[in-house]
Amino acid sequence: MRRYDAIVVGAGPAGSTAAYRLAAAGACVLLLDRATFPRDKPCGGGVTERAARLLPFSIDPVVEDVATSVDLRLRYGRTLRRGAGVPLVHLTQRKRLDLFLAEQASAAGAEFQDGVRVTGVESGEGGIAVLADRTRYEAQLLIGADGVNGVTARSLELGGNQHVGVALEGNLPGSELRADYRGKLVLEFGVVPGGYGWVFPKGDHVNFGVGGWGGEGPALRDHLRRLCEGHGVSAADLEQVRGYRLPLRSPRSTLARGRALVVGDAAGLIDPVSGDGMFEGFLSSQYAADAALDLLAGRASNLDPYGPRLAKRLATHLWASWGVKVALDRFPRSTFALASTRIVWGAVERIVRGDVADVGGVGGLARPPLKLVKLLVRASGDPGRAFRGA
Ligand SMILES: Cc1cc2nc3c(=O)[nH]c(=O)nc-3n(C[C@H](O)[C@H](O)[C@H](O)COP(=O)(O)OP(=O)(O)OC[C@H]3O[C@@H](n4cnc5c(N)ncnc54)[C@H](O)[C@@H]3O)c2cc1C
Repeated sequence: MRRYDAIVVGAGPAGSTAAYRLAAAGACVLLLDRATFPRDKPCGGGVTERAARLLPFSIDPVVEDVATSVDLRLRYGRTLRRGAGVPLVHLTQRKRLDLFLAEQASAAGAEFQDGVRVTGVESGEGGIAVLADRTRYEAQLLIGADGVNGVTARSLELGGNQHVGVALEGNLPGSELRADYRGKLVLEFGVVPGGYGWVFPKGDHVNFGVGGWGGEGPALRDHLRRLCEGHGVSAADLEQVRGYRLPLRSPRSTLARGRALVVGDAAGLIDPVSGDGMFEGFLSSQYAADAALDLLAGRASNLDPYGPRLAKRLATHLWASWGVKVALDRFPRSTFALASTRIVWGAVERIVRGDVADVGGVGGLARPPLKLVKLLVRASGDPGRAFRGA
């Protein structure tokens, strides 16, 4: 039996980029996924500029549109157009993006086996074992990237979510509407508790989606129908309508232990307010690869440093994101009014583009209105404060 340096379970954005980084650094890597590629996944397919900047290669070959502006609305009211004409979000389809990322990992030297379902994981002092169908694979370390319902976090008692949100999306094919939506995102606030509605342009269709608190699950189809009506289309014309869970980690969750760690959705790294997870998937895979290479080179005795390092990087953003999420529910008009001002939205765009790491890096004229947002967050109970303290 071949023994690997690292096994990565799950070839989504987090797993494939972790496998890419490790293989590119010379490690012997096995990347496993239960699906046969190309496979799709419920997702808006929006890769923020800050997420794209984290990648060691361009995703341009699978990008179908680039949003340089955003139309913001509250409860299907007046449209506020924002954006400075620079790329904010790259729009792709997950079946194309994820195949492309897995191909990059393979080209870098990782062994990619799709159609292999992992059923259990064992971790010990000397290494780890991954059980898949009737095969046993062994390695020095494991990266669990098998998403929100993954077996690795469960088997190894890693991760742990404070909350699991839900989202539902569908595609309007061959749409004449596409020209109206080209080059921009539409974000509809105050229409789904704990979330929002979106309209994203793609190559040959327009993607409509809604997401919010986990308890909104049974109401999501109604929310999606209203979103479509708000844009003059019928939800009955949407194709491939599908939903999935959005895992939001607990501030006390353990992200690594010994020779195993979790990344992306397996670690519950969804951004509470945007529902995005690809930036966090790429970021965590980068930190995971650093920790794995330290272990493989003998510079560290385990993967434990990964958890606190990642938690520290995301702490301020999670605090702000939880705060704005709940403030939008409690005080939708005031929070929207402040967030959509050119100054505050300009600060949001700097974060989305990766010009600053989080709201802590925003200075200048944005400071006074951001203090008002902070007051709303406090009045909402400051739901993210535990991330700052953790
Ligand atoms: C409706 C919706 C819209 C979204 N829109 C956006 C968006 O526009 N932008 C954004 O950034 N984020 C978005 N997200 C979040 C984003 O989809 C996730 O954060 C992202 O997919 C996480 O990537 P990942 O690699 O961690 O996990 P995943 O993409 O879930 O990949 C996990 C992989 O593990 C494999 N796997 C699972 N179990 C096993 C097993 N037992 N054995 C082997 N393989 C296994 C799966 O087949 C899968 O390929 C959205 C989510 C939803 C639900």
